[in-house]
Amino acid sequence: MKSNVKLLKKETIARDTMAFSFEKPENFEFRAGQFADFTLINPAETDTEGDTRGFSLVHAPFEPNLVVATRMRNTAYKRCLKNLPVGAGVALDGPYGDFTLHKTQATPAAFLIGGIGVTPVRSMIAQSLHDRTAHEITLLHACRTFEDFPFKAEFEQLASKHRRITYVPVASESAPDDWHGERGRVDEAMVMKYVPDLNRPIYYLAGPEGMVKAMRELLIRLNVNEDNIRTEEFAGY
Ligand SMILES: Cc1cc2nc3c(=O)[nH]c(=O)nc-3n(C[C@H](O)[C@H](O)[C@H](O)COP(=O)(O)OP(=O)(O)OC[C@H]3O[C@@H](n4cnc5c(N)ncnc54)[C@H](O)[C@@H]3O)c2cc1C
Repeated sequence: MKSNVKLLKKETIARDTMAFSFEKPENFEFRAGQFADFTLINPAETDTEGDTRGFSLVHAPFEPNLVVATRMRNTAYKRCLKNLPVGAGVALDGPYGDFTLHKTQATPAAFLIGGIGVTPVRSMIAQSLHDRTAHEITLLHACRTFEDFPFKAEFEQLASKHRRITYVPVASESAPDDWHGERGRVDEAMVMKYVPDLNRPIYYLAGPEGMVKAMRELLIRLNVNEDNIRTEEFAGY
């Protein structure tokens, strides 16, 4: 579906990371975890990468708006997006993708996520809670420092309220002394600590290409069946 959508709100949600809320067009239907292409209309500047980026939809289908979140790097597209006034439009094309939660609720979901790759996970968890599905969900979310975790407070709150949700922020480079998550890189021991039966879950890997590749290799070293691994590579990171 193609449509022009208005920006409703923009906010900083982690270091150099912003969320943008757009109005949802009538009849726009999608599944939690899907993405859409967002094209700037007559931007003030452009570069060789062009005026379109694909972004996963952060909010779930039951929620009223279309929300995306992104690391604000110094590219023409991101500068224009950051400066887009509330009320201005962008061209939406979507939804696309099949990075969506499996249907069999007795099978757990294990998310091994890098950085901004957490965006589709926020949507899947929110929809699963809304639909009261029975999936056991474990999210290991790796970022460099404690300031880099989007949705951390929300995930902590959901995990404290729902026993079937486990949230583990993993600060790979630095975190304060009172940090409640893990530290260092996600390795075999860390995965085994939070996923006691490695053969039960469907694994979801999302984020920068390097992270997704490393997590796939790690799971293969742990003899996980590759048929149970689903990936979403965020090209451009
Ligand atoms: C299915 C899918 C879903 C996605 N979902 C999201 C999402 O939810 N949120 C999100 O933020 N992104 C998402 N992406 C990635 C997104 O589409 C962009 O590619 C990404 O945000 C980078 O855009 P950019 O303007 O910062 O860089 P671009 O201008 O697109 O530049 C890309 C190229 O330049 C290099 N580059 C640019 N700036 C830098 C820099 N500062 N340092 C090092 N290298 C640099 C990159 O390595 C890359 O080779 C998704 C991608 C896919 C395919």
